[in-house]
Amino acid sequence: MSAIDEIKAIATGMWTTFRSMFEEPITIEYPEVKRPVRRRFKGRHYLQRYDNGLERCIGCSLCAAACPADAIFVESAENTDEERYSPGERYASTYEINMLRCIFCGYCEDACPTEAIVLGDNYELSFTNRSDAIYTKEMLLVPVKPGGKPTPQKTEPGRYTRAVPEMADPAD
Ligand code: SF4
Ligand code: SF4
Repeated sequence: MSAIDEIKAIATGMWTTFRSMFEEPITIEYPEVKRPVRRRFKGRHYLQRYDNGLERCIGCSLCAAACPADAIFVESAENTDEERYSPGERYASTYEINMLRCIFCGYCEDACPTEAIVLGDNYELSFTNRSDAIYTKEMLLVPVKPGGKPTPQKTEPGRYTRAVPEMADPAD
């Protein structure tokens, strides 16, 4: 390469640098600034509650059966009116998701008859060891909304006999 070509190459490089000083920065200052995700984004799971605080999960294990990665483990136990966690006969006494196995497909959400398990927009999932990647029920369950009560609740006998609440008419 001749001396003239070298000077030209340096000038081109400096011009590129100079020009970029006046362009809008495209760097996102994560984690201070978080980029909004798409509506269909599937992130960290949550276990939902009803407004009165009862847990939506009835421990049916349909999510675990639908999971292609075998990432969900559910154990169920019996509700009583003295100690009620969810409507119906049973609740999830253990609910775990292995986030190292999960491929965030959303099949668990689709399979759930009570809309208990949902995938949110949180993508900040990092672990320093394998056991931290097991998300327990306590980690997944959302807090009780204002006006609701924590579980277990003492409930009126015969009030919560249906595990899956009546669904609205799909034609509505
Ligand atoms: S998102 Fe998919 S892979 Fe992850 S737990 Fe649900 S069904 Fe399993
Ligand atoms: S999250 Fe839904 S599908 Fe899974 S055990 Fe609970 S109620 Fe059943």
